[in-house]
Amino acid sequence: MDIRDLTIKKFHEGLVNKQFSVFEITKAFFNYIKEKDSRINAYLRLTEDSALSRANKVDIELAEGKNLGILAGIPLAIKDNILIEGELATAGSKILENYRASYDATVIKKLKKSGAVFLGKTNMDEFAMGSSTENSAFKITKNPHDLERVPGGSSGGSAAAVASDMAVAALGSDTGGSIRQPAGFCGVVGLKPTYGAVSRNGLIAMASSLDQIGPITKTVEDAGILFEAIKGKDELDATSATNSEFRIQNSELQDIRKLKIGLPKEYFAGGLIKEVEEAIEEAIKNLKSLKIEFKEISLPHTKYALSCYYIIMPAEVSANLARFDGVRYARLSDAKLRIHANAANKSELLNIYLKTRGEGFGDEAKRRIILGTFVLSSGYYDAYYSKAQKVRRLIKEDFDKAFEEVDVILTPVSPTPAFKIGEKTDDPLQMYLSDIFTIPVNLAGLPALSIPVNPKPKTQNLKPNLPVGFQLIGKPFREVDILGIGQYYEKIIE
Ligand code: GLN
Repeated sequence: MDIRDLTIKKFHEGLVNKQFSVFEITKAFFNYIKEKDSRINAYLRLTEDSALSRANKVDIELAEGKNLGILAGIPLAIKDNILIEGELATAGSKILENYRASYDATVIKKLKKSGAVFLGKTNMDEFAMGSSTENSAFKITKNPHDLERVPGGSSGGSAAAVASDMAVAALGSDTGGSIRQPAGFCGVVGLKPTYGAVSRNGLIAMASSLDQIGPITKTVEDAGILFEAIKGKDELDATSATNSEFRIQNSELQDIRKLKIGLPKEYFAGGLIKEVEEAIEEAIKNLKSLKIEFKEISLPHTKYALSCYYIIMPAEVSANLARFDGVRYARLSDAKLRIHANAANKSELLNIYLKTRGEGFGDEAKRRIILGTFVLSSGYYDAYYSKAQKVRRLIKEDFDKAFEEVDVILTPVSPTPAFKIGEKTDDPLQMYLSDIFTIPVNLAGLPALSIPVNPKPKTQNLKPNLPVGFQLIGKPFREVDILGIGQYYEKIIE
């Protein structure tokens, strides 16, 4: 059994047919990671002891005849902003360098019940702010297709781990594209569920009205399997919802053919580099071969999405990150300053804040906290924040209208394939632009799937051949439509 071939589906078959034990295969994954990850840097840390003991437990339960379901024993990689009880959770930030989670995120609780095994925590941009994983306080993750390029971000560690076979699948989080863009850059599948479909309890918050946890996998089918396992209403997240009807199912081709796909003209109006344009044309051609109908649509407020996001998101970031004050949560060891007692003295308290936040946050986090504080401040609130909320509504209404005509919308994931490490670090605006096609989806709270156009790219004249992803956007809680089309797409290009 070559672990590099494993999908969730294949792993499960192998386990049922007793080709391996969970313990054996978990060990094999750790050996492989230790050999390979020194070049990729996908993981921030491995959780070997707990993984092996969980693997053992699953083996025993299987031997006892317990039917643990399709996720039993599956080795997963988890983004470092998702809490696993007893494990460090840094969210890629120095300020949380010593923070150990005291509880399991709801998604982790659910996956533990399904028998999944967690190999380790993956690298990410600090507090999920970034598009390249270069904003991590700890290391730079490389794109497995070209080690001089970024894996995308902020879930770059998770995408790189799956793309280089160092996990069967992974969890990431997506606030403006952080699952879909790295999946596109690394040639794997990424699903951002409908806002509310998956509980955010135990996800270290970036921008709470936009954040969602979702799967990064090798196949669309696997994304559906993981999504089904983590979704659902949770009393610990008031924004979570019950109405995601999704069940793993093999949609019939005749039902898929009834879905009409919209192509928003604003997404194809320039700004795409030729290779991406060609790849997207290839994806459309492939889908047309299934006899799916296409239609041009318009999302007229698309041009305001990025500006709108870069007001709302920092506003929420500034509020969410206020809690990292050096008193609660783990602190910089250096700031082991006199805690509560001495803090009664006001200037002492201020010093704790200044020192912890000054040293603990990186440049991008600081930039967004300052920006967010500004747009929320008295006198500017109406001009920026309230206005951005109104624009957000218009963007949502564009989608509502479009979905009266079509069932699914197809777009590129990013304007370019993976860029070079260091290429955009000095120019935040250029970095922000790489999310131009993914951000509107978060503002509207919709589900969207990133799929590699061609896992073995042929038509692109890029050197080396870099993967390009296309995005399928669905109606709220209609993950079933985008996953259904995605599954048939994969069958064509097999
Ligand atoms: N790259 C975007 C940002 O920097 C999106 C990040 C995300 O989805 N977490 O905000």
